[in-house]
Order: sequence, then C-alpha cells, then structure tokens
Amino acid sequence: MDLRPGPVNAAESAVALAAAFTEAYRRAPEGVWHAPGRINVIGEHTDYNDGLVLPFALPLGVSVAAARRDDAVLEVRSLQAADAAVTVSLDGTGPDQVRRWAGRERWAAYPFGVASLLRAHGAGGASLLIDSDLPQGAGLSSSAALECATALALCDLYGLDDLAADRPALARLAQRAENDYAGMPCGIMDQSAALLCTAGHALMLDCRSGLSSQVPLDLPGKGLALLVVNTRARHELTGGEYAARRADCERAAALLGVEALRDVKDLGGALARLDDPVLRRRTQHVVTENHRVEAAAGLMRAGAEAELGGMLTASHLSLRDLYEVSWPEADLAVETALKAGARGGRMIGGGFGGSVIVLAAADRAPRVREAITTAYTDRNLPTPEFLNAVPSAAAHRRLPR
Ligand code: ADP
Ligand code: MG
Repeated sequence: MDLRPGPVNAAESAVALAAAFTEAYRRAPEGVWHAPGRINVIGEHTDYNDGLVLPFALPLGVSVAAARRDDAVLEVRSLQAADAAVTVSLDGTGPDQVRRWAGRERWAAYPFGVASLLRAHGAGGASLLIDSDLPQGAGLSSSAALECATALALCDLYGLDDLAADRPALARLAQRAENDYAGMPCGIMDQSAALLCTAGHALMLDCRSGLSSQVPLDLPGKGLALLVVNTRARHELTGGEYAARRADCERAAALLGVEALRDVKDLGGALARLDDPVLRRRTQHVVTENHRVEAAAGLMRAGAEAELGGMLTASHLSLRDLYEVSWPEADLAVETALKAGARGGRMIGGGFGGSVIVLAAADRAPRVREAITTAYTDRNLPTPEFLNAVPSAAAHRRLPR
C-alpha cells in the first residue's frame, strides 16, 4: 500500500469509477464522492470514555459513484466485493434485520444503514458503486470512510444541504448506522475524522462535547515521516475484547462515582480505591492517555513534532501492559523501529490486529521500514505493508468538479 493518490490520480480514479458505474448499471452516475481513512496520532480507547482523540485523514479512502433511483430501493456494489451486490428496499428493512445479514453481503449494512437513516431527512433510493484503496480491517477505518462517502453522496443527490453542511451531525448519523445496522459499538472518532479533518492538520476532538479544533501537523516541513505499518495480523475475538474493555471502564467509573473515566482528576487516589488490579490498569491507561493527547497537541502547536515520538511509545507501552490490547506483530514492529532509530511508535485502533504507526526522521524511514520487513521475514510472518501518512482533506465531492 504505497502512497499512490495525488490530485491527478484522484481525478483519474474518479473518472474510472464513473465509467465502471456506467458499465455496471447501464446509466451514468450523477457524481463521485470520496471519504478518507484515518490514523489516530494518539488517544486510544479514550473515545468511549468521553475523552480526547487526535486523528488525521489519510490520502487513501473510499469513493462512491452514485445516482438516484425513483423508488425507495438501495442498490449497492463494491469493486472490493464483486460477487456481493445487494438490492434492498429502504422501507420495511429495520436495523434488527440488517444486523442479522450474514456472509458476503454483510458489508452492505454500512451503506444501507446510512441510507436508511437519511430517509427521515428526505433522501430516497440510489444506486451506488464503491471503490477503495484502503485496506479493510487494518485499523485505518474503511468502515467509516464507506459510511461517510455514502452519506455525503446521498445528501448532495437529494439536496440535503443543511445536513451536509453540519458535518458533526452527519458524523453522528454515520456512527449510528455503524452502531445500529452493522452492530459495531464504535465511538464517534472515525466518522468525525472522515468528515472534519483538514490537510496539514490533526483534529483534536473532545468525544464528550463533540467540539473539535484543528492542530497544525507539518511532518514533511520538519523532516519527519509517519509510517503506517499494516501488520496484516487480524486476531479473532476482537469484537468481544472491545466490548469487555468498555465494560471494564464502565465498571471502574461506577465504582469511582464518576460519569466516565475522563472525569478522574486524582489518579493516585482513584487507583487506591479500586481493589481489582484489572480495573486499576484500565483506569491508569485511560487517564494517562488523555493527558498524552493534550501533551501531544501542545507539542504540535509548538512546532515540536519530532518530540511526539516519546508520546507515541509511552502510549504503546500503556496499551500493551495496562490496557492489554496489543498483539505480538505490533510489539515486534514498535521494538524493531525503535532499535532502527525511529523516534517512537505505537499500535493504533482497537487492538489484537491492524496497524502500527512509527515516527522517524524522513531520511531514516527507509532503514526503519527495511528493519521491520526483515524482522517479520525472520519470524515467517507475512510481509507488512507500509504507507507514508500525510494529513489530508476530509470527505468531498470529486465529480463533477
Ligand atoms: P476498518 O474500519 O478498520 O477498516 P472494520 O471492521 O471496522 O475495519 O470495517 C471493515 C468492513 O467495512 C469490511 O469488512 C467491509 O464490510 C466494509 N468495507 C470497507 N471498505 C469496503 C469496500 N471497499 N467494499 C465493501 N465493503 C467495505
Ligand atoms: Mg471500522
């Protein structure tokens, strides 16, 4: 997954997707929309604790070519799921039913959930063709990109201009689609990143208030590279472990008498009051991680991007030892990167599989990359994929321009 898209490639691939739509549906699309994947610089497992996160949008994402239909039917195909086209009526197909979709058609729950929720705002049926250059399930949020590209497409097609302009509201709608229709109890970060990020910035998002601000993040200007390493490991039980961590946090917050772990002010006192060592570890991670987000944003605002490395590594150790969501391939990538002279690195996403980010001086990045590849090869692990991540723009219309 080497960095491909630039402005020229983005326009070319939108034209190619429009042509593929015409071929598939025997009519031209009305437009092409795009929403990016994201990485989260820091702030992991803080979103559902009402805390802080600091993601930025990737240059990779999901594109949707779309045209209205004159009935209330959603017809979806994806170039990444060529044998799993789905045509469903938007009326009378509820979330409980959609959550039970199994097998190859399951992916359609994401666009279907969005289209169903937009029905109340005045959207109708549509034909959609999806294409993506984001790996799926790699922790880069292809699901939110799929939801948000679909949401923007339907808003534009049906003239829902007020909703399209209220991007925080659109993010909440896309999150609800994922929660209720895909059955994934995700927080608001991924959809907010896909809809609110701007090029050259990370997005400081307060998951309690929903308020966000843009924090400048100039990596190339500081001679730095942020590598995304897709470890290509995907362990089972991820959904169950995620729910278990959420339950731990809720239990700890209830025992401490706070609404969410975000509200713990005196960490030492809180740890002394918790008898369960597991809940102590979870609490320590969440509270310190929130402080690391604030510290990292402070470093960015001060133009001290190179110093973010230490924060990233501290976050990784906390996720590994206290939150216990790391996985062997991620630990190996981080340790190897540090030995090869990277400034820091950490696992990203929910855990138990997916990607790692590594911050390194730009001229050292090739050596770090090589060292990680060699370490994986030596242990007979699949060759990891790398992406040079640059803070990019949020969801937008690509065609017509
Ligand atoms: P992540 O969001 O980290 O990539 P998720 O498990 O949340 O991982 O979402 C991945 C799911 O999103 C896929 O299993 C698939 O159902 C859906 N998806 C994402 N991109 C596409 C695509 N291009 N075509 C079809 N389905 C997709
Ligand atoms: Mg996802």
